[in-house]
Amino acid sequence: HFSKRLIIVSNRLPFQLIKKNNQLEIKESDGGLVSALQSYFQNTSSGKTAFEATLWIGSAEFNEANWDRLDKQRLEHLAYSVDPVFVDKKVYNKYYNGFCNATLWPLFHYFPSFVEFDNETFKAYEEINRQFADRILSLLMPGDVLWIHDYQLMLLPGMIRESRPEATIGFFLHIPFPSFEVFRLLHRPWKEKIVQGLLGADLIGFHTHEYVQHFLTTVQMVKGYDHQFRSIMLPDRLLKAEMFPLGIDFEKFHAGAHLPEVVEQQRIIENSFPDKKIIFSVDRLDYTKGVTHRLLGFERFLELHPEWREKVIFILVVVPSRQIISKYNERKKLIEEEIGRINGKYSTLGWQPIIYRYNSLSFHELVAMYLSADVGLITPLRDGMNLVAKEYLASRIDRGVLILSELAGAANELSEALLVNPMDRDEVANTILQALRMPEELQLQKIELLQKRLKEYTVNHWLADFLRQLEDTKLLQHTQR
Ligand code: UDP
Repeated sequence: HFSKRLIIVSNRLPFQLIKKNNQLEIKESDGGLVSALQSYFQNTSSGKTAFEATLWIGSAEFNEANWDRLDKQRLEHLAYSVDPVFVDKKVYNKYYNGFCNATLWPLFHYFPSFVEFDNETFKAYEEINRQFADRILSLLMPGDVLWIHDYQLMLLPGMIRESRPEATIGFFLHIPFPSFEVFRLLHRPWKEKIVQGLLGADLIGFHTHEYVQHFLTTVQMVKGYDHQFRSIMLPDRLLKAEMFPLGIDFEKFHAGAHLPEVVEQQRIIENSFPDKKIIFSVDRLDYTKGVTHRLLGFERFLELHPEWREKVIFILVVVPSRQIISKYNERKKLIEEEIGRINGKYSTLGWQPIIYRYNSLSFHELVAMYLSADVGLITPLRDGMNLVAKEYLASRIDRGVLILSELAGAANELSEALLVNPMDRDEVANTILQALRMPEELQLQKIELLQKRLKEYTVNHWLADFLRQLEDTKLLQHTQR
């Protein structure tokens, strides 16, 4: 029974093609999922996994001509083989910048007033999902295990199931699944199709218990199917909805602290701000991340606690994201206006409260920032999980305090962090004070507990756990027949 393949499906392939010395080369993205797969499949030879191969299907950011020209030997070092889906740019744009990121993203993150309702973009969403389905159906073999990822592909499980009732299909949602009171705001045909699409899976994974419950309630309200112990008995088969909180590559971040490049960067940062406490945050530019609310909380802190002025700086890094969508550009302007206003109000000749960078960070810079920060201030208004919070904790080799929004999925696991309501600027201000005053011993105790938990459920555990439960669900279906 070892002759089966794992097929990973995600909107994007996990690499880009770049031109170097007039040759096309592969540049892999350093996302957690890619490295988890790598280490998972390094174990294949020792017989730990039941898969003989992995195939990754996703849309390509490069064009078909470049793909044809690529020397395929360059793919050999990847832990997976690759099957790019080449999509029409115009349709893709309506799907990605339209239905995915101007409809589903704001709605699922509780920003209903940002949601755009446009039948054209839903049609594009169906079209791209259909194109993925056709590609998968053309190569799917009995025994293959299909694992589909995220909100861009929610119709796909149902489309596959229609043609292949016996297929093994897992689905994982990387963003929150909202309460039914929010989900119901979608147009009726859209929400019915999305639920129907998801019900094509055998196992659906979410980051938190809450998202699982929201999904189960939604299925009940939209389709009338009851659930029991996170299982739904569909007319043709049993479906399970479970919680799998995404972890990080703990060792990579923890060991990162000792890399010479990181130590050097850390020295530069700390020498630039001698005798100052450093507060740090990094997020993609996204309204869900709560950057303006965070700035207002920091301003309130400076206002209420003047004794801390000139003794603390806030390093705020914003990573460019989704620049085409207007809401994102609006946000950037707003953030920069707030920073200018607060710095204008509180700066002295020798001190500026907020250091702002609009740029992405290399791994070394990121870890050096995590290490230099006395306080990590991570306050999204909503976040499916939030890996930055986990990475900050993992990178610490001594003390350090994490302030974390209670509306991030990660808050469920990180209860020893200082949890805050990100909207409440007084609470944010008071929590900053509490973090700066926290005794070193207590900081160490908390870090130790939190790190222990992060080590126990890394991204590798997450991956293995999901695949095992997918297999268990299939077995359960067979015994129930
Ligand atoms: N990150 C990055 N480039 C940067 C800064 C951060 O790729 O310049 C990474 C970071 O290490 C983390 C991820 O981006 O793994 C962000 O994940 P998170 O869950 O916090 O938020 P998301 O951006 O997925 O909403």
